[in-house]
Amino acid sequence: MHLPYLTRYRPFSISRANPAAQGGAKIAAIDLDGTMIARKSTNQWGPKDADDWKWLTATVPAKIKELHEGGYKLVIFTNQGSIKGAMLGAASDKIRAMIDNVLKGLSTAAGTAIPAQVLIATTNDNFRKPGTGMWEFFVENLNGGVAPDLAESFFVGDAAGRSEDINGGAASDKEFAAAIGIKFILPEDFWCDQMPFPVILSPRLC
Ligand SMILES: [Mg+2]
Repeated sequence: MHLPYLTRYRPFSISRANPAAQGGAKIAAIDLDGTMIARKSTNQWGPKDADDWKWLTATVPAKIKELHEGGYKLVIFTNQGSIKGAMLGAASDKIRAMIDNVLKGLSTAAGTAIPAQVLIATTNDNFRKPGTGMWEFFVENLNGGVAPDLAESFFVGDAAGRSEDINGGAASDKEFAAAIGIKFILPEDFWCDQMPFPVILSPRLC
């Protein structure tokens, strides 16, 4: 199965999931797992299948639609170490299929096409957050030659160095944002201001 990933660049793969994604100065950079989506299953190292995901909060599509209408370009930066160097292997197929479902679900839920770029770090090198290789590659090759406005751009991520964060308290998302020089925002702070009423999703959320 070959999904519509237009560019592959070792050692990470890139999705330009929607050809309508154009360059922009305001970048809404968002982590995937634990930030935009959560897993339905209890699988630890990757999705069980392409449908093994749910929105982290019900407010995710509306918030992203708001960003899109506000002129932000959505770019997902995700570490997916289970792919390793097997860009077209089973783990890669599953993760790319899941991401395509997420993007499809996003446009459906938002009621409008939301163009997005997705960068996936597959190996343990400078492309893996907190390394800035994915961001640099994005700026050089996937933003239509437009230099991001760092003051207007931001990164939302859940790996912020709290003890309950992934991998025993990784701060890779927070450090990624700091190394780029853009604002870092926690998922609960980003999505929850849209909550119409208190919804208990996890002890940390809303
Ligand atoms: Mg995460």
